[in-house]
Amino acid sequence: MPSNGIDHRGRQVSLLARMAHEEATSTQVGELIAECEADSDLTADPTSDTATNLVRLRRDYDRATRLPSALVGEEAELATQAQHHWAKARAADDFSQFQPWLTKVIDLMRRKAECFGWADGGEPWDGLAEDYEPGCTAAWVETVFTPLRERLQGLLDRVMGSRTPPSNAFNELCLPVDAQERFVRSIATQIGFDFDCGRLDVSTHPFCSGFHPTDVRITTRFHENNLNDAIGSTMHECGHGIYEQGLRRDMAGLPLGSAVSLGIHESQSRMWENQVGRSESFWHWCHGELNKTFGSAVAGLSFEDVYGGANIVRPDFIRVEADEATYNMHIMIRFELERLMLKGELDAADVPTAWNERYREYLGIDVPDNTRGCMQDIHWSMCAMGYFPTYTLGNLYSAQLYEAACVAMPDLEAGYAKGEFAPLRTWLNDNVHVHGRRYEAAELCQVATGSPLSADPLMRHLESKLSAIYGL
Ligand code: ZN
Repeated sequence: MPSNGIDHRGRQVSLLARMAHEEATSTQVGELIAECEADSDLTADPTSDTATNLVRLRRDYDRATRLPSALVGEEAELATQAQHHWAKARAADDFSQFQPWLTKVIDLMRRKAECFGWADGGEPWDGLAEDYEPGCTAAWVETVFTPLRERLQGLLDRVMGSRTPPSNAFNELCLPVDAQERFVRSIATQIGFDFDCGRLDVSTHPFCSGFHPTDVRITTRFHENNLNDAIGSTMHECGHGIYEQGLRRDMAGLPLGSAVSLGIHESQSRMWENQVGRSESFWHWCHGELNKTFGSAVAGLSFEDVYGGANIVRPDFIRVEADEATYNMHIMIRFELERLMLKGELDAADVPTAWNERYREYLGIDVPDNTRGCMQDIHWSMCAMGYFPTYTLGNLYSAQLYEAACVAMPDLEAGYAKGEFAPLRTWLNDNVHVHGRRYEAAELCQVATGSPLSADPLMRHLESKLSAIYGL
């Protein structure tokens, strides 16, 4: 689309969003839900599939009806325009071009949060987060994030002080993109992404689109000098894809055939990317496969080089390129800032300073410009506030679910060294995917792992792995 087409596109998107919202919130839909609720045959057993679907449909309907259609249309138009201006401002590293749009986004997000409201003692952020992580509040996120941040900071200090960091040789190799593509496709197949029900293509920013369990499309990306990024991105999106493919086909389009939340979705991608894809046993298998595919180009790399190279920790500016240990710091910074913006305690104009101060404090680095600072992410420009913490919640759920899978199957990791990944996929199918939206995220965590969400499993995972790799 030519850049001047953006205003008209904004109006088109706005009209469609308003029409879709009017359909979904029509009184007829409300009457149909009420009719089903009144039918005791359908609701006699509250744990039945139908009764569960009804509870979730009611929740979605009631929530959607709190928003006026005019505001839904306004948001769609603003998101279209703000995203366009964000991209231009980011390319020019000129925050002043984005600032008026961010001001409009904050204002609209505050009005939207008012429509939804929040529980006593809560705050505007809670009203918005509910769309991404039902049941999630800022206060709860803070109780999970605070101990996590303290422990992460201690771990990072020790890692950065290591006298025996792993070799970075693996990340300095130049490998042809066509061979990389063959390689990551074979990994995707091996870990259980079903190519009869999905596709893998290339895009600048990898993503997953799930239309139906039989049609799940994921993308990845390639750089000649960064095979690790292609492996990580592919396994990450495969994790999202395997979740979508594992949803119940007989419930497609209904809550029981849908993902629980963004946090749980992210737990699935992170598990394959990190718990599996950066594990020692995975690299015992993958190192052999590397030699088969790339031959002499990788012949000089030892097992320690590839496994260590896949686990390098280095505080840096860009969230999407961050390693497993520093990643969550990026999220905490965004969470703190959007909480303040929504409370009216941080103006758009002050975002760059607030951002840079936190990067210095949490990661010890000086942000060189706003392109690598507060303008790096698309989320705020697309009116997505209350979203960021789902990434860290995903990491936490991932570690906790993975520990439970390892307890249930003590030989799980030993299998990876032989290229056996089906037991984990099956466990996830049975303990996460099959439930759809039967439980909310916190409840699902309790059911699948026997405990409420805690930062402990993630910290155990990082501390034990990095202590060995960095000789701590
Ligand atoms: Zn993801």
